[in-house]
Amino acid sequence: MRQNVCILGATGSIGDSTLKVLAQHAEHYAVFAVTGYHRIDKLIEICIEHRPKVVVVPQNKQQETWQKLQQHGLSNIEILTDEQGLVHVSSHADVDVVMAAIVGAAGLLPTLAAVRAGKRVLLANKEALVMSGDIMMQEAQKNNALLLPVDSEHNAIFQCLPHDYNISKNSTPLKQGISQVLLTASGGPFLHTPADELIKVTPAQACKHPNWSMGRKISVDSATLMNKGLELIEACHLFNICESYVTVVVHPQSIIHSMVQYIDGSTLAQMGNPDMCTPIAHALAWPQRIHTPVPALDLFVNHQLDFQPPDTQRFPALQLAREAIKEGGVMPTILNAANEIAVDAFLNEKIKFTDISKVIDYVLNATSNVAANDLEVILSHDILARRTANTYIQRKGQ
Ligand code: NDP
Ligand code: MG
Repeated sequence: MRQNVCILGATGSIGDSTLKVLAQHAEHYAVFAVTGYHRIDKLIEICIEHRPKVVVVPQNKQQETWQKLQQHGLSNIEILTDEQGLVHVSSHADVDVVMAAIVGAAGLLPTLAAVRAGKRVLLANKEALVMSGDIMMQEAQKNNALLLPVDSEHNAIFQCLPHDYNISKNSTPLKQGISQVLLTASGGPFLHTPADELIKVTPAQACKHPNWSMGRKISVDSATLMNKGLELIEACHLFNICESYVTVVVHPQSIIHSMVQYIDGSTLAQMGNPDMCTPIAHALAWPQRIHTPVPALDLFVNHQLDFQPPDTQRFPALQLAREAIKEGGVMPTILNAANEIAVDAFLNEKIKFTDISKVIDYVLNATSNVAANDLEVILSHDILARRTANTYIQRKGQ
């Protein structure tokens, strides 16, 4: 029996890699549902190749999608729309595996729906977990969902934890002899850029990551180090540890994807060429291993591994994230929402690169914290933070 896979965000970079891995294992996996947002032509190409049963698009793209599917003789594919459609496919009774790879807060409700439906959830959409950490983890436990990290660092940490460690049971690895998690960061494209030049960097420069090929939002997050900040919060929730157990290590080669240190002096690392097909295949097949197109690491070529601490003066976003998770409550939600607005404004050349962390800092300071144990509270604070960030950006532009 083939397992049915639903790919939320199939038209994106993680979507590409997921489809590549699935195509190599078509005898074990069937693509049941794929979702897209702007890139309808790409979604149609995916439909031609993978023949899903359902697609989900925004309402305003439904007509175009229908016409293009007809043109290619694919009128049997059901078209659903908007958030309702996303939630429907991610919790569908016929779906076994959900790849959560929509970017940003838009992925929260469909990812949560997959968790509540007890699916195997391959989590790439870190923003969803940052926003709703406690709720997402509790729901996974309650509904027997199998939450598996796709983010390369968290996947690496998971691989370095004791083999009986179960993320969805919300146990803490600290009881199993772990002393520290070392979260590696490439340092992004501006690792060596002097502080006074950061104000001039363009969206194109920020999106040109030295080691990874990714969507534009996460590429900017990598350049500001907010990606590492979001990942720090992600690690706290996934592994049920507090932020003081997570040390960020800049490792420019991106060969070690993260490490776990044990109380006996051991440090375990997961290494590999920087290609998302590896963590995707790991999460898809765990606890089995399956082939990917990724070549094995050649240590005679990749023989130099460097490490340094992050520069939080030039990249304040990482520290803002650390403070947000320390404060807890809705602060991570606020941080994430303000970051999404700021990154979008930077990509649209409304603010400078160095303004991104200023926007986030402003919005965090302008918000009173409350507990985040209710989804309504999280969603209302997400809206509030977006509004505050937009107002600040507009005022700054005047
Ligand atoms: P992309 O921008 O390449 O893809 C994002 C996907 O989400 C696309 O399918 C896009 O559709 C869809 N999408 C965008 N906005 C919406 C919306 N409002 N509603 C529904 N769907 C939407 O991003 P990535 O693939 O790079 O990243 C996806 C997630 O995975 C992010 O959370 C990122 O942080 C995480 N991640 C990515 C890694 C990577 O290497 N790329 C590594 C680790 C984590 P369309 O393209 O049709 O507009
Ligand atoms: Mg990562």
